[in-house]
Amino acid sequence: MRHRIAFAARRTAHTVALEKISLVPINGVGTDFCERLAPCLEERFFHKFAVEKPLTLSPTQANAIRRQFFLTTVFNRLLAAYPGRNGLLLGIMGSDIYKTSHNFIFGDASETDRVAVVSTYRLSPAFYGEPEDDRRLFDRTLKECVHALGHAFGLRHCYSARCAMYYSHSIYDTDAKLTYFCEACDKRVRANR
Ligand SMILES: [Zn+2]
Ligand SMILES: [Zn+2]
Repeated sequence: MRHRIAFAARRTAHTVALEKISLVPINGVGTDFCERLAPCLEERFFHKFAVEKPLTLSPTQANAIRRQFFLTTVFNRLLAAYPGRNGLLLGIMGSDIYKTSHNFIFGDASETDRVAVVSTYRLSPAFYGEPEDDRRLFDRTLKECVHALGHAFGLRHCYSARCAMYYSHSIYDTDAKLTYFCEACDKRVRANR
């Protein structure tokens, strides 16, 4: 009996070690920016993150009136570009995105398709008429990446305004939350990854 437990534990550790999360720079996001995000995400998820080659979505694939990309279109492009991948895909996109009944979104994920995306478009201080600030853009992007990956691992929104799983109605909510999960969400994500 004791042997079987040890074997199961070894197998779990082996599976976790194999899983890789692919970070994909899309439309204007730099590879270097993703290279900086990778170690911060590794620290929070204990997965190996690898930056893939950038992907470009043509403006003709955006909604012509809204000039925004539909979330499902972005997911489909990511899934088509990395068909043989082994693990989750996280796209970091410079263009604005939306989904049904939302004017815009900072990011989202599909747990079933194991794909997530974050848009830096409205995370940039310049979008709000403020001076460019790389540190702020980076922190906001990290928070929304933790949030989107949380969804990819099956987490729902959290009521704690400091938790990364708190839903950001606006940039003020993003600025108020932390780059980490609260204790309850952390426990849940550990059980799912
Ligand atoms: Zn969310
Ligand atoms: Zn939480």
